[in-house]
Amino acid sequence: MLPTITSYTAPLNSGRFDYTAKSRSAFQTFDPMNQTPLDQVSFRFGKKGPPYPRILGRYSQNRPGPLIIVLCATHGNELAGIEAFDRLLQTLKKGKQPFDGQLVGVAGDLAALNSGNGKPRRYIDEDLNRIWTSERIAKVQRAEKTHQENTLNHEEREMLALLKILKTLQRDHHKQWPQYPHAYVFEPHTTSSAGVPFLIPYTSGLENKVPGVALLGMENIEKNPGFVADYLNRQMPGFYSMGIEGGQHKAPSSVRNLENILWVILEQMGNLAKLDNVPKKQIKKLERQLKGLPKHLKVIGRLSIENPEGFKLLKKSRHNIAPVQPGELIAMDGPRQVRVPNLVGKDLYVFMLNQQDPHNIRKGDDVCFLAERISEAESKVVHQ
Ligand SMILES: [Zn+2]
Repeated sequence: MLPTITSYTAPLNSGRFDYTAKSRSAFQTFDPMNQTPLDQVSFRFGKKGPPYPRILGRYSQNRPGPLIIVLCATHGNELAGIEAFDRLLQTLKKGKQPFDGQLVGVAGDLAALNSGNGKPRRYIDEDLNRIWTSERIAKVQRAEKTHQENTLNHEEREMLALLKILKTLQRDHHKQWPQYPHAYVFEPHTTSSAGVPFLIPYTSGLENKVPGVALLGMENIEKNPGFVADYLNRQMPGFYSMGIEGGQHKAPSSVRNLENILWVILEQMGNLAKLDNVPKKQIKKLERQLKGLPKHLKVIGRLSIENPEGFKLLKKSRHNIAPVQPGELIAMDGPRQVRVPNLVGKDLYVFMLNQQDPHNIRKGDDVCFLAERISEAESKVVHQ
C-alpha cells in the first residue's frame, strides 16, 4: 500500500484551458492528487485523450527506501519525459523485482500540457522553468494567503500547486519512513535539436554514475535563472534535484534515453538492487554513443540571438555538442558574426545549438551555450 496523502488541499484550476468539452468536464471533477492509473489515460506523443493528471503514477512495494520524484513536462510540449516515466512504471508493475522506497511521476506545467487539443503548448503565460525565484515564490504564497490566487497567471498557479505537492510527498514519505527524509527530484526535458543526453546536476556525485554529459554551473551563467531544479536544490530543505535533457522533442530515442537514465538512477539511488538485462543492454548502447565526448563541462556562457530574421547557424553537430576553437565563427546573426570568445588555453565546446526552423526563432533565444571541458576532480570544485 502506498503512503496516503492526507493533508493536501489543492486549489482547483479555473478550467480556462482549451480542452475539448468532454475532457473539460472530466477535469472539473479532477483532484490534482488523485492517482488516476496511467493506463486509463490514452496519450502518446500528443495524441488526443483525457487530460493528464497531476500525479502521473506512483509505485511502491511498501518497503523502506528513498523517494524518487520524476517531474515531467515542466515545459508542456515536452512529452518524452512522460512517456519514459510511463514505460518505467509499466515495466516495474509487470516485473517481480523487489523495489525499495517510492517512485512518483508529477506533471509540471499541467495547464500547458493539457492545452492545444493534443498539441500541448510549451507554456500558457510564461516559461515555468524561469520563475522559481525566492521573490516570485513569496509573491504566489502571499496571493494564496490573501485568497487572491485569481491574480496569478497560469504558471504561477502551477508553481504554487507544485510547491505543495512536492512538499506533501516529501513530508508523507518522511513520516512513513523516518530514515528517508529526502526527496530526489529528476526533471526530464527535451530540446529542439537531436543530440546526446545532458545532465544538469546541482549536487555532486550522482552525475558521474549516470550516462550523459554533465553540465556544471548552468545556474551560474544568469544571476537569477529561476530553474525549478536549481530552486529545489538550493532553497528547499530536504530536496535534491537534477535536470536531464534526453534529446529531440519528438524523437523516440529521447524517450529511450530518458527511460534508461531513470533506470540507472533507480539502481544508483538504491531503489533497485540490480538492473534487468533489457535496460542493461540499452544503457551500454547509450554509453557507446557518448564515447569520445567530454563527461564534465563547466558552462561559461550563453550566446544569444539579436536578429532572428537574419539568423543562420553555421556550426552543426549531430550530437548537439562540438569542440570549438577560440574565435571560431558559429553563426550569422543578421550582419553580426557570432564567434567563440578568445579564451585561449581552454578546451572549449559549444552545446545545445539552436537548429530550429528560422521562423520559430525569437529575439533573445540561444544561439548555443559555451563550456570548457573539466575533469571529475575539477567538477567537485564547481559544485562548492
Ligand atoms: Zn524543457
